[in-house]
Amino acid sequence: MTYALPKVRGIYRENAELKSWFDVGGKAEILFRPADLVDLQDFLKNCPKEIPVQILGAASNVIISDDGVKGVVIRLSGEFAKISCEGETVKAGAAALCGNVALHSKNSALAGLEFFSGIPGSVGGAIAMNAGCYGSDISQILMSAKALDFNGNLIELSNADFGFFYRGNKISKNFIFVEAVFKAVKSTVEAVSGKISELNIQREKAQPIRAKTGGSTFKNPEEKRAWQLIDEAGCRGMIEGDAQISEKHCNFMINRGKASARNLIDLGDKVKKLVKEKSGVNLEWEIKLLK
Ligand SMILES: Cc1cc2nc3c(=O)[nH]c(=O)nc-3n(C[C@H](O)[C@H](O)[C@H](O)COP(=O)(O)OP(=O)(O)OC[C@H]3O[C@@H](n4cnc5c(N)ncnc54)[C@H](O)[C@@H]3O)c2cc1C
Repeated sequence: MTYALPKVRGIYRENAELKSWFDVGGKAEILFRPADLVDLQDFLKNCPKEIPVQILGAASNVIISDDGVKGVVIRLSGEFAKISCEGETVKAGAAALCGNVALHSKNSALAGLEFFSGIPGSVGGAIAMNAGCYGSDISQILMSAKALDFNGNLIELSNADFGFFYRGNKISKNFIFVEAVFKAVKSTVEAVSGKISELNIQREKAQPIRAKTGGSTFKNPEEKRAWQLIDEAGCRGMIEGDAQISEKHCNFMINRGKASARNLIDLGDKVKKLVKEKSGVNLEWEIKLLK
């Protein structure tokens, strides 16, 4: 093995192929899937500090470098994907998919998490990104979360500890989120189901959700929606290799088949430059680069 890694009960894989929702990726030097929370804690406590350690969720908001990812990439699964509803709260592990959380909430007649249904990420990724849509986001529903710091200490965090802002928070670089509790509101299965269908219809109309994509490429700046600025700069449909600015929603990049991470990054950077020239606005990447 490349590194002297601590003994774990979970699984290490060397040169593990990683792919994002773009269907583009590279190899992680080491992929680690912890067996459970204690295993992850022990790993973090004992992993030599010079080895880079990163956490990946469902990879729906990342570009993974063609050259691969240095060090250890942690991916949570198994017991980290549990979901339970109690009273007007929903508890979910960081590996639970947002869509499954929405489904559980609906089946328990709990409203407030309907917007999760169209977000293809995990709970951990959604907290890190303060994911949201159609007027709702994580910051409005998160009550508390459990997280590990990179020394393996378990920390309980309240909503206020996060310092949430649009598509981010002040603390996620320092933590691996492992569990979250969301507040919901008692409703009926029919009402929640109706809201979910309504949101999904809206999304299907506006976004290329069946394409290989990574969601919104850039954050919406204060001045205007990012897609409008991109459109006005003449970038709708623009192509770089096999990467393209979606014709349907021009804040989405898509992989037309054999795009590389380089194609996606170059395309995004070209769009940034053209938008700056046209409108003077500096677009900020929402999509993260994993390398
Ligand atoms: C078709 C499509 C539609 C989308 N629609 C929306 C939308 O409407 N609204 C929206 O906000 N986003 C949307 N996205 C983007 C994406 O789904 C969200 O940002 C999602 O929350 C990312 O979660 P993930 O698990 O995939 O995170 P990843 O992409 O795996 O990671 C994103 C970031 O989160 C960090 N992270 C992941 N897990 C953890 C953890 N456990 N602890 C700490 N940090 C962690 C990673 O290190 C990385 O920096 C869309 C994406 C696609 C492909």
